[in-house]
Amino acid sequence: MLDLAIIGGGPAGLTAGLYATRGGLENVTMFEMGLPGGQITGSSEVENYPGQKNVVTGMELMEDWPVQAMKFGLKHEMNQVLNVSKDNNIFIIQTADGHKQEAKAVLLATGSVPRRAGFKGENEFFGRGISTCATCDGFFYKGKEVVLIGGGDSALEEAVYLAKICSKVYLVHRRDSYKAAPSTIAHMKACENIEEVTNVDVEEVYGDNSGVTGLKVKSKIDDTIRDIKVPGVFVFVGRNVLNEPFKKEDGTFLCDTNEQGEMIVDLKMRTNIPGVYAAGDVRIDAAKQVVCAAADGATAAVDIIEYLG
Ligand code: NAP
Repeated sequence: MLDLAIIGGGPAGLTAGLYATRGGLENVTMFEMGLPGGQITGSSEVENYPGQKNVVTGMELMEDWPVQAMKFGLKHEMNQVLNVSKDNNIFIIQTADGHKQEAKAVLLATGSVPRRAGFKGENEFFGRGISTCATCDGFFYKGKEVVLIGGGDSALEEAVYLAKICSKVYLVHRRDSYKAAPSTIAHMKACENIEEVTNVDVEEVYGDNSGVTGLKVKSKIDDTIRDIKVPGVFVFVGRNVLNEPFKKEDGTFLCDTNEQGEMIVDLKMRTNIPGVYAAGDVRIDAAKQVVCAAADGATAAVDIIEYLG
């Protein structure tokens, strides 16, 4: 019987693991399918984590987090959690390998995944010229022109990163103003090889057997079509929460959620079900920052220790 099952190994899950084990819980397992670290490990530049005065990659930022948590006894199980169900006051964790484990408390810290924009050709060319990770795939377009779609912090930060590798970046956005932070907009505007293509809808991404060869956008102002010939398209249009482990067969969830499927929690990261917690991007009103996810994890762990008494 686990004291605590943590689902997800990003900043929220790792910090919860650190606080829970260091706070005295003996049997804490963090279920993470891949390497711990979370979505931030795909970021090329992090400059707003407190205490880090130098710009670091997401990978560098997260490198020591699992090491530190495991020093206090956190166990990492490289496994996918398919479902969590409740049996009286005990939770049943069902994993992809067919095993079931019991836990006295459970924390959902699964975060989110990149959202698809929904244009023609997106699914067909995904992984064949369409990418959602500039640090992973930017290198393939060294010295070439690429398109990047989106207008938030992720889009603009990654446009700046790609502008250092690629000969030119077309920043394609559906409006003419951006959601990103003013300093990030200023960084983007200072890059001479970023061309802003705003107030457009993506009509389609097209290509051939070897992958993407270009993209067509339609002006929202005069309906004109512009054809941009590029071998690579990066999509940064937001993220969807990973709530599958809490989903029941009838489509409802183990605990209350909002319309976006985000877990409703209070200030202690408690859901409406005693013993069930959610932290990081998967919860309502998440600021979607590493430091906030980490703080959520710590907050949840402190309350879980009290709950387990
Ligand atoms: P986001 O802020 O939700 O921005 C998504 C962007 O994609 C928006 O500009 C949106 O356009 C556009 N978009 C959405 N759906 C689209 C579609 N179907 N087709 C075309 N464009 C579409 O997402 P994000 O950039 O991934 O950021 C998520 C959160 O993480 C935010 O809270 C952000 O501040 C945070 N974040 C922070 C940092 C940092 O502080 N360093 C870095 C990355 C992310 P509209 O503008 O028209 O809605």
